[in-house]
Amino acid sequence: MKLAKPSRWILCLFLFQTLSLYAVERLVPQQTTPFAETLTQISTINSLMAGNFDGAFTFGELKHYGDFGIGTFNSLDGEMIALDGKIFQARVDGKIYPTPDSAKTPFSTVTFFEPDEKFPVTGFSLEEIKKFLNDKINTNFFYAIRIDGDFNYVKTRSVTSKKPYPPLVDAVKKQVIFEKKDVRGTLVGIYCPEFMNGLNVPGYHFHFLSDDRSFGGHVLEAKVNHATATIDKTPAFNMLLPADFSPGGSKKGDIDRVEKEPTAR
Ligand SMILES: [Zn+2]
Repeated sequence: MKLAKPSRWILCLFLFQTLSLYAVERLVPQQTTPFAETLTQISTINSLMAGNFDGAFTFGELKHYGDFGIGTFNSLDGEMIALDGKIFQARVDGKIYPTPDSAKTPFSTVTFFEPDEKFPVTGFSLEEIKKFLNDKINTNFFYAIRIDGDFNYVKTRSVTSKKPYPPLVDAVKKQVIFEKKDVRGTLVGIYCPEFMNGLNVPGYHFHFLSDDRSFGGHVLEAKVNHATATIDKTPAFNMLLPADFSPGGSKKGDIDRVEKEPTAR
């Protein structure tokens, strides 16, 4: 059938659109929001390691990229927990504060949490949880992990800093440690593959928030009484750099030193 000129154009446009949609669908997961199934981070861990603690993006902006995640605040003032779309600040006074959208973060990692699989993790320590999850996940991908339930014990820390900012390894030497027995709450975790070394924290990184919003922080130790781990495999990655971004750097082993409890205190 011979088509009139305008009809031929419409047919071409239709075919082009169909092919484009097909290509996009094959490459990009089905998205319910523009940043679904995407891990977004502000700055890099190496920049934070170098003492770049000035807030670069507001939490109002961060909420555009996720409702779940972890990070820190302007001036390294506390541990950030993003859970169910709300942002909480665990400060060195041991208290938890709600975060206004106008507050800023120098380093954070968030995603929209969409459950893929659930596992019981009853009786596990933090190390046992990590070993257990290693067998369940594809370690070459990003994961958001939430572990909800009753904990026998949770040990957290918080930090703060002031100008002139020291490197992160020195700032965490003044971390304040908190312990809580028999607490109900959520471990909010991000898993990054080894290839993210220097960009984010390779392996598992957990923060905690109690159900009554009175206790939390960066997790050093935990023992589960009865809980469920829910994982969200996240195949896409998005990185936002501050306007005055400086890449910093870290020595081998430094990231471990800031994530774990210092042995010599
Ligand atoms: Zn942390």
